[in-house]
Amino acid sequence: MDSLQCNVCQAPLAGAVYTSLPDQALSSLNRNLDGQLEVFSCHECGHVQTSELYNSQSYYDNDYDILTGSEDEDQIYSVAPGQSPLFRTQHQVNLLLAKLDLPEGARLLDYGCAKSSTMRALQGQRPDLAIHLFDVSDRYQEFWAKFLAKERCATYEIPAQWHGSFDAITSFFSLEHIQELANTLQKMRRLLREQGRLYAIVPNVFTNIGDFLVADHVNHFSHTSIEQLLALHGFELIELDDHSHRGAFVIVAKVGSASLAQRPSPAEVDRVRAATETISRFWRNAETDLRRFETAHAEHTAAIYGAGFYGSYIAGRLAQPEKVQTFVDQNPYLQGTVLLEKPVVALDRLPDGIRAIYLAVNPASAEAVKADIEQKFPNRFSFFQFQP
Ligand SMILES: [Zn+2]
Repeated sequence: MDSLQCNVCQAPLAGAVYTSLPDQALSSLNRNLDGQLEVFSCHECGHVQTSELYNSQSYYDNDYDILTGSEDEDQIYSVAPGQSPLFRTQHQVNLLLAKLDLPEGARLLDYGCAKSSTMRALQGQRPDLAIHLFDVSDRYQEFWAKFLAKERCATYEIPAQWHGSFDAITSFFSLEHIQELANTLQKMRRLLREQGRLYAIVPNVFTNIGDFLVADHVNHFSHTSIEQLLALHGFELIELDDHSHRGAFVIVAKVGSASLAQRPSPAEVDRVRAATETISRFWRNAETDLRRFETAHAEHTAAIYGAGFYGSYIAGRLAQPEKVQTFVDQNPYLQGTVLLEKPVVALDRLPDGIRAIYLAVNPASAEAVKADIEQKFPNRFSFFQFQP
């Protein structure tokens, strides 16, 4: 195999900071991928990178069907007590409008847009915007046709007349999948007009550490690698926000001069790399803790709280997964579905015999979730929880 290079700064990557057990690599769609997950940390820019385990072109064309299930399917962003959940799509629209302050009639391109429920909701709220869509797959065209004219949508090839025409390019959870970042950033820059802006949201592995194990997220950006990426491709960073979208970085940049990019400060990169090492240690310890809890509660039937990535991760590592009777999830679109041959139910529908619960949520929210369960069912369960 050729030596691996950093997707951001092209520095050679040596020595994985994390290697999974064989055939335990999970994709963002909770599918097991063949092979071993290897994660690297770039000495030069602090980028965290996962080696590609699959043929990405055919994967996104044929296997990657995120949320194509139904028209309204969405992911919960937050649930305030006594209120209906705020879904991710609406949160993304609110944030975009607040940060970009788009003028009447602005030309927008959602790049790597998938189903693009965000743009659909945005178009509903701001019919004046000239929204365009681009992706490397034909599979979402049916969704796009419901809210946009055909000439505003493109797949595989970008129409020549689009170049230099956009006021803003958006990218929602797409750059983490792309190995050829240089190529993508150059294309984006070419599509923007002078002073045009790039608005991107990518996972933040430092606040959502589950992202570290997602096998098809080949990029886990750090603040240093984001700054480096933008500078290398002629963008000027306006804002790097790590708090407005939980577990993610919100990036606002504008077309700048293509001057020679500086390397990030070695001290800053060292800090990022130490944080990366902490995450790697967290996941090595999690495997041991999980096995210890399972052994101690072997006589009980159990439930896994969280039917997303963390839920599949836990289920995949149990010695006796048959002890798990059900998954619990508060997302109404997941309730009533089946994951790993087990039903997904609402918390109120938890079967009686269950005494152990695996909290399969972002470790940062685990305490809040546990408190919620305890309030409804005081002292009924033993909890497994990831230990920071
Ligand atoms: Zn790098």
